[in-house]
Amino acid sequence: MSATTHPLCKKPVSRRLSQADLKFAQLARKTVGASKVDECMRAMHDSDVSNLKEQLLDKGYLDQATADDLDAALAEAPLPAPNSERLPPLKVDNLCSIIGETLGGIYLHRVLGKGGSGVVFAGRNADGEVRAIKVLHPRAARNLITCRRFGRESNALARLLHKNIVRVYASGVDRGLHYTTLEYCPGASLSTVVQTHGPLGLIAAIKVALEVTRGLKIAHSKDIIHRDIKPQNILICSDGQVKLADFGLAQIHGTQHLFTKKTVVGTAHYMSPEQSRAETVDDRADIYSMGVVLFYMLTGRWPFESKKKVDLVRQHRDELAPSPRIYRADLPDYVEELVARCLAKDPDERFDGADALIEALKEARAKALLQKLRVYAEETDHGEPCQMPPKRRRRPRVAKMNRSQAFWLAVCGSVFVSTFAIVFLLFSSLL
Ligand code: AMP
Repeated sequence: MSATTHPLCKKPVSRRLSQADLKFAQLARKTVGASKVDECMRAMHDSDVSNLKEQLLDKGYLDQATADDLDAALAEAPLPAPNSERLPPLKVDNLCSIIGETLGGIYLHRVLGKGGSGVVFAGRNADGEVRAIKVLHPRAARNLITCRRFGRESNALARLLHKNIVRVYASGVDRGLHYTTLEYCPGASLSTVVQTHGPLGLIAAIKVALEVTRGLKIAHSKDIIHRDIKPQNILICSDGQVKLADFGLAQIHGTQHLFTKKTVVGTAHYMSPEQSRAETVDDRADIYSMGVVLFYMLTGRWPFESKKKVDLVRQHRDELAPSPRIYRADLPDYVEELVARCLAKDPDERFDGADALIEALKEARAKALLQKLRVYAEETDHGEPCQMPPKRRRRPRVAKMNRSQAFWLAVCGSVFVSTFAIVFLLFSSLL
């Protein structure tokens, strides 16, 4: 039996869980509580007990009568189908209504978020591992390009294994629904973080940009250009990890072009000038979008704002990007310069790839940290020279006698005094 890591609690999870165990776990969670069931599922990894019910009984979390009730309920409830291809197509008016179904081998638990073309669910596979699964809305699936975009994302990402890129496990069509199974990243998108908490601090913004650019470096090294870098596609996980997602619009070297005609690809607020001209792009198009993301993280605004997409595209193509200092005056020069260099109209004037941007971001981070330290030192110092506390004078230590030393000193003293007295008496009687 091989163990794997539970993405939520980083503890080993059994690979031996059967479909029946999973269904039993679902029912038992409502009765004994999710934490106890999860604990037993993990314990199955180390113990000889291969059945979840036995494990719950062993631990005393379940009594025999309740276990029998659950067994009866389980017999009535249909098991997740091992081969769902044979099942009839799902009729979905509202995609969220498929919670409780099994799609692509994933038992769907809850909705994580809704995107432009579908819904992302959290679920578990047959091994009990938590996964995110992106399901394309049937309405969107009528568009051939959207379907192909959906499928090619998994092919592109299967080659990209990096801590700053959301891992794709599989994709396919199950009962008429297009899906992609992804690594589960609990947390929120960068866009939600900025909308909820406002612009990021300087050091935090540089950290996020650095992590995303590290992910980009790996993609670029495999000749994959993301072409849709934006805060909605950057996930901030609850353990602090930053992950780049959604390679559905990526330009992948060696694959057939998704669009036969010259088509503008990307999101208007973050689109590089060359993308807006529907040209074939290189790494530096992603560097431009990273500049917009950095601008957004620092100010909560975009360099160009308009309700009309056409205006946005024209502005990115023809107008000089403003400085982020317009909205945040305390930003240092070196960050202003870094953003301006990313946002240069001419790709030759931008950073020459992810490596160069990583170096610049590292330098900016070092300067920002140093600046923070200086401010801290000034605040605690109040500008006065540092005074050492006066030294405490120590009294000379007097050696202490122990009891026997004191006894012998007393004996010697009394012998000496009595000898002196006897001699004195002898002398006085002689005289
Ligand atoms: P999308 O359709 O890719 O824009 O995703 C919509 C929302 O689903 C995102 O904003 C995230 O909150 C959530 N989400 C997407 N992918 C994942 C994932 N792999 N793990 C956890 N949440 C995700």
